[in-house]
Amino acid sequence: MIYQRSSQLFAEAEKVIPGGVNSPVRAFKGVGGTPLFAKSAKGAYLYDEDDNRLIDYINSWGPMILGHAYQPVVDAVIEKAQKGTSFGMPTELETKIAKLAISMVPNIDKIRFVNSGTEACMSAIRLARGYTKRDKIIKFSGCYHGHSDSFLIAAGSGLSTFGVPNSPGVTQGTAKDTLLANYNDIENVKALFEANKNEIAAIIIEPVAGNMGCVPPKEGFLQSLREVCDANGALLIFDEVMTGFRLAKGGAQELYGVTADIACFGKVIGGGLPVGAFAARNEIMNYLAPLGPVYQAGTLSGNPLAMAAGLAMLEALNNDADIFKRLEEKTLYLHKGIDKVLRDNNIVFTINRVGSMISVHFDANPVVDFQTAKNGDNDTFKKFFHGLLNEGVYIAPSAYETWFITDALTYEDLDFTVKAIDKVAKTL
Ligand SMILES: *Cc1c(COP(=O)(O)O)cnc(C)c1O
Repeated sequence: MIYQRSSQLFAEAEKVIPGGVNSPVRAFKGVGGTPLFAKSAKGAYLYDEDDNRLIDYINSWGPMILGHAYQPVVDAVIEKAQKGTSFGMPTELETKIAKLAISMVPNIDKIRFVNSGTEACMSAIRLARGYTKRDKIIKFSGCYHGHSDSFLIAAGSGLSTFGVPNSPGVTQGTAKDTLLANYNDIENVKALFEANKNEIAAIIIEPVAGNMGCVPPKEGFLQSLREVCDANGALLIFDEVMTGFRLAKGGAQELYGVTADIACFGKVIGGGLPVGAFAARNEIMNYLAPLGPVYQAGTLSGNPLAMAAGLAMLEALNNDADIFKRLEEKTLYLHKGIDKVLRDNNIVFTINRVGSMISVHFDANPVVDFQTAKNGDNDTFKKFFHGLLNEGVYIAPSAYETWFITDALTYEDLDFTVKAIDKVAKTL
């Protein structure tokens, strides 16, 4: 495959944009080489600036669950754009998408829209602190909740790829209010509550972790967190930026039957436009300005183009009774295919999967938390990544990322992918 034009464009970009990218993981630092520049995309395929066609397993890091340039989303955006792209006033569209989201997700009465997953999680934490009148939060090593200060502590994929455990610029004062726990380790969480009595406002968690590869919660783990929060007057926040509207209509809350106090959304909810949201029961959401004392705002929040895209996406998911089953079946098919060819080629590996999230780890042991995720053989991953890229299969350029399966993938695409993996496995 030729990447000539992408390389030139990257060299130009590096002169004017730090590292040539507007989000670090795009820079291929975790795998070496220079990033591809996207030219267009349709369905399951990406086309780069050298006109290579790639089967896309990143899907803009999650949002394109129905494929790229999904027609109802494109049409909705075009129609809205002609009527004005931002008003800074309320629109009927915001109420429509709010009603639909609330009807799909369990246990929420009100939702507020923001512009990114980062903003959603940052605002959820502020709300939890204001509501409980406590300062500390618990987060899990390897979970990523966006790049706001409180969360940039052992934050998974982006930071792990770069080997930066904590970002400079986050003050000690902020860092001391973030307590770290190990994913899937309830005793660890209980000990933190014991040592910080009546000080913990909330636990925030990716109910299925997706930023250290895909790491599912152990049986009963989420339920135990619910119980620990209830026993200690803390809120349970599910960061469903990745899992929301992906694992089920109601996300991980529905899939695992555990209710969160606040749920955060992003990615799929915006249909590929910059959207985040956080939602809760009335008693919590009414704590937000202008009803309550916790301030949160946004000039472009509820932007008409973004809301039109999000509404078209949620409607499509809501009206398709089989969508999540279909996605799961495709992912399982891929899982079985990869499992077979890696086994046949005597590769040491573990595959994790929940619904349409899947990751391949080059380690024999179960991957259940950040430590076990880090045991994967990164050199093998790099060869795997570049091998697949050369075969026209685009997975995330980091060993700490989940692959996202889109409904636009056909079984022929999945077979093509498995064949490519077989070919690459012979070179590992
Ligand atoms: C992507 C992601 C975020 C951050 O969302 P942005 O839109 O990139 O700010 C937060 N939490 C999780 C679980 C994510 O996967």
